Amino acid sequence: MKKNQILTLLIGFFVLFSCKNVENDNQKSEISESEVIENVENFGIVIHGGAGTILKKNMTDSLEQAYTDKLEEAIRAGHEILANGGDAMEAVTKTINIMEDSPLFNAGKGAVFTHEERNELDASVMDGKTLNAGAVAGVQRIKNPIDLAVEVMNNSDHVMLSGQGAEVFAQEKGFELIDPSYFYTERRFQSLQRIKEREKTELDHDTKVTYTDPLIKDSKFGTVGCAALDKNGNLAAGTSTGGMTNKRWNRIGDSPIIGAGTYANNATCAVSSTGWGEYFIRGMVAHDISAMMEYKGVGLQEAASEVIQKKLTDLGGTGGIVAIDHQGNIAMEFNTAGMYRAHMNADGELIIRIYKDE
Ligand code: ASP
Repeated sequence: MKKNQILTLLIGFFVLFSCKNVENDNQKSEISESEVIENVENFGIVIHGGAGTILKKNMTDSLEQAYTDKLEEAIRAGHEILANGGDAMEAVTKTINIMEDSPLFNAGKGAVFTHEERNELDASVMDGKTLNAGAVAGVQRIKNPIDLAVEVMNNSDHVMLSGQGAEVFAQEKGFELIDPSYFYTERRFQSLQRIKEREKTELDHDTKVTYTDPLIKDSKFGTVGCAALDKNGNLAAGTSTGGMTNKRWNRIGDSPIIGAGTYANNATCAVSSTGWGEYFIRGMVAHDISAMMEYKGVGLQEAASEVIQKKLTDLGGTGGIVAIDHQGNIAMEFNTAGMYRAHMNADGELIIRIYKDE
């Protein structure tokens, strides 16, 4: 072979070899890109355990620890479901179940008392993918009202059931009806008694329920709520409460009202509210946040702060929301001294807070 024939051959091999490598590299980069896409599957979860005049000076270290521990237990349970590819609705309900079963929160076991010394519980859920929703109001014998809200959503033609009818439905669907004494906690009973004492001594009996009285307004902390985004990009939200201490006349607050206490839409965000329910109903707080995102294209944080710090505050309402958007951004907005709250992202970073300026 002549010298330049050998050279041509060598160049040929070199070109062939490098093309192969480029091909391999391309394949590699394709593979790693798709791995990256899988790995960036975003998800997240955010919870609240009620908002109000929650001040450090009124809190013992052990009570603070108890709240922190329970918030952590609840959010970790939901996070694990999401991390394993479970759906947002399941994460929301299982997380809320843990808080409903704790006497610390005004939901399930720790529900506040009505004027008639009963416990009337409200709850709602919403699925951001289908915009399907379920709610129950004024139930007295359901251990975990959030589960019944899910049942209404999935297995009835309705969105909201109330009182005895909701319990008949529950029984038909195989729910256990528990003895209402399950909801008795000394702490909640005593806070009702203090309010009744105040009513006797200071308030005019003919007036309507005076929620403006701080003793009444601030004695109902602990409605619970959760919003979650799963790996499939689905959003869900849920809220569960005992309502407000000393409520009468089968009063129903915002927690079971879709659009006020709970809202979820895959196109925007999932929201759960807590606070003085009448104002959240009038302000349609949860839906308003979603609507600002949907119709005005604003981000979650801006929408949440506009609705809570301006609209709700101008109306005279107090409370807050937790929310997560379709990209996993979180908002925890409130206009009270504190809100029990926590969030956890796809990387497992956990934030737990109670007071305002933390
Ligand atoms: N929003 C609830 C209600 O008005 C109470 C609360 O969240 O603290 O029933």
